[in-house]
Amino acid sequence: MKLRIALIPGDGIGPDIVAEALKVMGAVGTKFGHKLDFSFYLAGGAAIDSVGVPLPESTLLGCQDAEAVLLGAVGGPKWDHLGGEMRPEKALLGLRGGLGLFCNLRPAILYPQLADACPLKSSLIEGGLDLMVVRELTGGIYFGKRGRNEAGDAAFDTMAYTTAEVERIVRMAFDIAMKRNKHLTSIDKANILETSRLWRSVVNRLAADYPEVVVDHQYVDNAAMQLVRKPRQFDVIVTENMFGDILSDEASQITGSIGMLPSASLRSDSFGMYEPIHGSAPDIAGQDKANPIATILSVAMMLRYTFRLASEADAIESAVGRVLDAGWRTGDIMSEGMRLVGTKEMGTLIAQQI
Ligand code: NAD
Repeated sequence: MKLRIALIPGDGIGPDIVAEALKVMGAVGTKFGHKLDFSFYLAGGAAIDSVGVPLPESTLLGCQDAEAVLLGAVGGPKWDHLGGEMRPEKALLGLRGGLGLFCNLRPAILYPQLADACPLKSSLIEGGLDLMVVRELTGGIYFGKRGRNEAGDAAFDTMAYTTAEVERIVRMAFDIAMKRNKHLTSIDKANILETSRLWRSVVNRLAADYPEVVVDHQYVDNAAMQLVRKPRQFDVIVTENMFGDILSDEASQITGSIGMLPSASLRSDSFGMYEPIHGSAPDIAGQDKANPIATILSVAMMLRYTFRLASEADAIESAVGRVLDAGWRTGDIMSEGMRLVGTKEMGTLIAQQI
């Protein structure tokens, strides 16, 4: 199979970690007989430096032409003084909007080999942790009407959703729940918000199409508490944009290892953009210190969700597991008695395992 992939290394550790993902993709291509067709594009600070804008049109067009996008990370102190439309992070919003990516998948997995990194009591995570946050990405309060009065002393933001917007994300979440443990928790604030009441009614209506999935509802304030009180009760969480932004960060932090977690942004066809959840970590950029595993696992998600290559995705995930089993660690996940390696060696070890 030919896989047409757009690559955006970005800023900071972005180029370091994308290089290791390429090594691993090369190993997968060789083992499974796939031809990899890569095109590189600029975004974020790298694009500002080179062409003056965070998201050049050529990048958006190139991504639209590919089947999937792999992004490292964007941003850094060099561009922090820039405001508004010129901020490197604007590239992310532009890509999500421009590519129509409305569904953000953030798995939070606690690897048994890294259980020490979890900030929760070990009794709460006994048996491991593997949950998936499905966040709506292009609606809600981040995209609603906003403004200030003339005096500048009052402001408003609007949360708005249509039935169609809710239905497409909730359907995605049900489909994902069907492939996992068939338990969906929808999170809203239906005791207060009208958008949440609409959201809840759509979830209840679609539930009839998925009789095997156990559905429950939680208010977002309770969910924030339940995530740290009893995280193993969750399988798939579905929620609107802002609640998802906050809860997915909380869920990832309970695994304790930001360098390990991938993400996917999808739409209804197979196209997707894949990236680690962490940022560009300027403090360790170019020093062979970054953990490339989140990016490598993002490639596994790409193979699974865009290219429907489950065996290839499994091969990457189990290669990561074997490298951790053997005690190899980058600095961010290092603990006593383990073997410290750099970014490049970690990438090579995982590629070798494939
Ligand atoms: P960050 O995720 O870049 O870093 C937070 C801490 O985690 C740092 O100490 C960093 O060294 C460490 N870290 C992150 N990824 C790591 C990895 N793979 N291996 C080892 N250690 C790792 O968050 P930040 O410091 O808040 O942001 C830095 C820049 O990244 C900012 O400009 C921010 O806007 C940007 N950012 C970009 C994205 C994105 O591109 N998707 C997401 C978040 C932040």
